[in-house]
Order: sequence, then structure tokens, then C-alpha cells
Amino acid sequence: MTIRLYNTLTRKLEEFKPLEPGKMGFYTCGPTVYHYTHLGNLRTFLHNDFLKRMFLANGYDVRHVMNITDVGHLTNDEDDSGEDKMEKGAARDNKSVWDIAKFYKGEFLRDFNDLNMIAPTVMPHATDYIAEQIELVQKLEKLGYTYEIPNDGIYYDTSKFAAYGALTGGSLSGNRAGARVGFNDAKRNPSDFALWKYSPKDTKRQMEWDSPWGVGFPGWHAECSAMSMKLLGDHFDIHTGGEDLSRVHHANEIAQSEPITGAPWVNTWLHYSFLLDKSGEKMAKSKGEFLGMDAVRNRGYDPMVYRYFVAMGHYQSQLAFSWETMDATAKSYANLTRRVADLLTAENEDINTEVYNKWHNDMLGAMSDNLKTASVLILVQEFLKSADINNATKLALVRFADELLGLQFIDRAKKLVALENEAAPAEIMALAQRRADAKAARDWAMADTLRAEIDAAGWTILDSKDGYKIVKKA
Ligand code: AMP
Ligand code: ZN
Repeated sequence: MTIRLYNTLTRKLEEFKPLEPGKMGFYTCGPTVYHYTHLGNLRTFLHNDFLKRMFLANGYDVRHVMNITDVGHLTNDEDDSGEDKMEKGAARDNKSVWDIAKFYKGEFLRDFNDLNMIAPTVMPHATDYIAEQIELVQKLEKLGYTYEIPNDGIYYDTSKFAAYGALTGGSLSGNRAGARVGFNDAKRNPSDFALWKYSPKDTKRQMEWDSPWGVGFPGWHAECSAMSMKLLGDHFDIHTGGEDLSRVHHANEIAQSEPITGAPWVNTWLHYSFLLDKSGEKMAKSKGEFLGMDAVRNRGYDPMVYRYFVAMGHYQSQLAFSWETMDATAKSYANLTRRVADLLTAENEDINTEVYNKWHNDMLGAMSDNLKTASVLILVQEFLKSADINNATKLALVRFADELLGLQFIDRAKKLVALENEAAPAEIMALAQRRADAKAARDWAMADTLRAEIDAAGWTILDSKDGYKIVKKA
């Protein structure tokens, strides 16, 4: 099937052409593990997962590299100044930088699994690729792209790279570090960036390494160029990240890589739009207050509800988060799961292949057309409602939708049926009967009190036209 994606580099919706037939290699800028991953970061990773699932469903052999940034990332990324985020996080948590990296990586992976994302093929840590980063800087030095700022570090001279800022359509003006307070005026150009930073003379950093230039640590951008080239080769298909990365981080990655590999380094650049918080601003770790999966879990939502919420939006549009929308999403997810639960008994019945193929192709077509996840969900709602499709065919189509969107409808439907089949204990049955009697006597207050009691005991009473049903709460 034809695959079309919006390429930031060309600002066009383009037909995807793999470098090698049947294969797709892509690199994702992974999390910086100095704090919990927030729902915005996870939105970006979820869109990646949709991308990967779309390629897998189209029969591609996918190689996915996502790094873990555990070093050398300053609070003012754009001008290489400020504190090291890892050291700052370590001081906040009263732990070593190595310990917080391990801890927050573990938390990230828990969220990643809870959200049913497919594990990357390789997940390299920046600290395991210091030698490769040093080698990258040496190559750039040899090619004449670097200069030293004494007592500071080795910098990249962006004026030497004619195509600088191509991703955002603008030469040196792409990076506006010069407009910021605290601009390092020893730089030759505002957009120049650190390749290697020296450790301060008077303090010992927890993470530092020897290098040909002195003890220090790599600039943030170096890791992604070094690791992607090592693990995906000099020319690969797709590079992804949040929309904030295109202007500086990715512009710098290109500037570091293309003089070495020769252009083009990456064919398609994909950028995912922000998740906004309730004040309409980008959800950000640096704000100190942000929502993560703990907030979602603690409020009793299935992580699939957040995944569904993200799938309802498109990656090129910003999305505003609110608990009200999460409630509405939880209801839709529960309704769909309930419908799927009614199909489970059709497991061994005959599928209508013609009907199946039509809907299958419609879903894959929507997904392949620039990742229209919401359109796939609309198709799911349509075929579930249709009176012309048999249950076995519907169930097979839900299975395919699960492959594409990873929303685990079948798994959750099975769990729902198991809960529904669990018999309520005698005291709950007795309460339910008393409630039915109260209703018959039109004693609504008593009926409500009894419902609340049943609810508090962990059961839900569902009224139906032929009486009622008691089901265990999920
Ligand atoms: P970080 O851990 O800060 O390096 O970010 C990990 C990924 O999340 C990067 O691709 C960022 O561009 C992305 N990201 C950061 N904030 C948001 C947000 N509010 N919405 C969507 N993606 C984001
Ligand atoms: Zn990166």
C-alpha cells in the first residue's frame, strides 16, 4: 500500500520510498532520564508507535533505534549554558546521577509497557557511546568545522555548513540563541553549539570523561548523530521527535552528520505536535509540575484510555489535555470494549473474506495516509455498528485494529467478560434484591442508598429491561 508522510525537511506530504525494499530504519530521540516522563513526551512516543505499527502492518521489516539520554544536557539547551539536567535532578532527589538515570529509565519503561508500545530494536544509552561521540567530534575537527572556546569547550562553527537550518527553512537565523539572555559571546555565530564541554576547573562533575581536548562531557546533540549512524548506518529512512526538536537539536544533528556521511543523511523527518496543559501551554518537565502516567493510573484510568485519547488526535495538531476529555474518552473506550466483548463467542465462526478485506484495506489505507489514527477509530465504530457484517468478521477486524492502534480491545474485552462472569457474593445479591424491592415500591431514596452500598463494596449494578445484572468493578 502507498505510504504517505509529512516530511518536515521538504514541507510536503510525500510518498515514502524505502532505501532498501521491504525495510524501514528509524531513529527516535528518546527521553532524558532526569525526571518522570510526562504525558507530552508519551504522546510523542505513542505517535512513534503508531508509525511503527503502520509499517509493520504494511509488511516492512522495521529497525527502530531509540536512545536514552542520560548525560550532558544543559537546562538552556539552545545556548549550551545553565546547569546539567542530570546533576540537577540528582541534587533534587538526593541521589547520584547514575542512580537517577537508572530509576527514571525504569519508570519510563513501565509507562512505555503500560501504554502497550512495541520495544525498540535497540535502546542505546548516551553514556555507553562516549567513544563514538568523541570520534564524531574528531572527524568534524579534521574537516575544519570546529573551534575551541578556552575554558568552555569545543564548538561547531555553523557558518561552515551551508545547509544549516534547512529543516526549519532558514540558514543561521533558525537558531535564535543570540536573542537569549546569557548568550555566550565567545561563539562565532549565535547558532554555534557545543560538541564537547570542559568540566569546570573548580568542581568535580559526577559524569565526566577524558578526551583529546580535556576532561568533560559531550554536547547534547552529539549523542544522536553518533548513535544513529553507528546503529542505522550513514543513510537511513526516518528520524522522529517532538516539534520542539526541529529548530535546534535536529538542525544540529544534521550539521554534525552530513559533513561526515554526505547529504542526505536522513530521508524523512517527522515531528509530532505538542500536548498542551490546561493553561494551553506545552507540557514541560522544566516547569516542575506536569502530569505523568502515575496521575492517570492513580485516578483509576486504564492506560489504554490515554492511548485512545492520543489516537483521537493527529500528530500534526497540538492536543489539549484535560481530565474532562479523559472521562469522555474512558466512556467511548468502555463502550467499544463492551461491544467487542459481545463478539468473543464468534471466535470459531466463519469470516466473510470479501467484507473483511474491504474494511481491513480501509483501515490500513487511513493509517498509511499520514497516520490518520482517528479515521481508523471511526471505521472501527462503523463496522461494529453495521448490521451487515457477521460477528466473526467483526472480531477479526477488531484484531487487525488492535495490531494497528495497539489499543488492546480484545484483551480488555476478555477481561471484562471474566469480571462479568464472576458471581457476586450472597450479601451483594441480597442488597441488589432489596434495591429491586425498593424500586418496585417506588422508594427511590432507598434504592439509591442500596446502589451506593453495592458500589462501595466494589460491584456495579446494571439495570436492564429484564431486571438487573451485578458486575465486579474493573
Ligand atoms: P525529553 O525527555 O525532554 O528529551 O523529551 C522526549 C521527547 O518528548 C522529545 O521528542 C520531545 O520533543 C518530546 N516532547 C517534549 N514535550 C512535549 C510535549 N509537551 N508534547 C509532545 N511531545 C513533547
Ligand atoms: Zn536526538
